[in-house]
Amino acid sequence: MITPPPTPDEQLQFLYNIQRLFAQGRFTASYKYALLQSIADLCVMHGDDSGDSLEIKLDDIAEQFIHLYWQQCRPFYPHQTSQGFILRQNTSGQAAVVTHILTSQRELHLSAFKLKYDYPKDWVRLKRNVRTVVSRQPLWKLQVVSNDTNEFLYDDFTDTSHDSIRLKSGVAYCFRAFHSILTDMTRGAWLRFVQTTNTQSLGNSTDLGEFLFNWQRIPLDKFKLILRDHQETRCFYCHKMVKSKGEVDHFIPFSQSPTHLGHNYVFTHKSCNLDKFDFLAAHQHLHEWAQRNLHYGDELTDLFNEQNLPNNLPVTRNITNWAYCQAESTKAELWLRKRRVMETIQPSWREVLV
Ligand SMILES: [Zn+2]
Repeated sequence: MITPPPTPDEQLQFLYNIQRLFAQGRFTASYKYALLQSIADLCVMHGDDSGDSLEIKLDDIAEQFIHLYWQQCRPFYPHQTSQGFILRQNTSGQAAVVTHILTSQRELHLSAFKLKYDYPKDWVRLKRNVRTVVSRQPLWKLQVVSNDTNEFLYDDFTDTSHDSIRLKSGVAYCFRAFHSILTDMTRGAWLRFVQTTNTQSLGNSTDLGEFLFNWQRIPLDKFKLILRDHQETRCFYCHKMVKSKGEVDHFIPFSQSPTHLGHNYVFTHKSCNLDKFDFLAAHQHLHEWAQRNLHYGDELTDLFNEQNLPNNLPVTRNITNWAYCQAESTKAELWLRKRRVMETIQPSWREVLV
């Protein structure tokens, strides 16, 4: 049976609980921010718009942790000085997750994605280590507020042998509905935490936020070759031939969902890509994107897999569904064609994505 979405009162209560958690929870490491962000992101990737409970695997949380911390484990250079250092993510000593990631980076000097696809054994080891930290620390601590446990997200996590958590009814719905607000709250609090924990080394650096949350982009050249062939060198949006090099556009903009998934990419003119900017694409583009993945999704999956390129069609569809749902609730304008010709989102977008 499908659970109905939470009522407006229940949604408000969720936000109060989150606010209380930020205001009164004790944070000795930045893990809790990473955990909240990871859960929010995973709700977008795997949840739906009902009020159903949602199972989240610890393996998936560990993977999100690695992506969130990877960039933060690089040396930070305050004010472009030549003296870089690794930011502390714990009030006493360094956070274990950082130490595990540093070991992988030092050995291999890679991006997280390259580690995952080119060095699967190292990736699995790192993920296992991070998962252990997550299950022993932030998972049970997250909901402890002023010596009191408020289990509004999931049931008490004291048995660390579990390999997943189950979000309560309505929780995934709220994480999806308030994803952008929660991301801002989490990043703001995380930034303040890192600033306070590293005061002496940081001085008054102003570029810390950009460093912390600048998600790594990955080279898109291999995707481009596959998609250009598939689209017979025509631009996905205007359908004209691409005579120059062309570009890969994130169909759901990177600013909304910083994930790297092959089916989210389309081959376009540079000018079309630039003009589309951070907007969602109009209904006709959504229709074409959905049709492409309906008819050629599996073929593209095979091509991506042959080259070890990240992809996951069901998750990509879920993210797209979520992004348009959000756009509908804020009555967003969608990008139709160059010179910023826009159209307003209509409820009919849902029929397109079935
Ligand atoms: Zn074009």
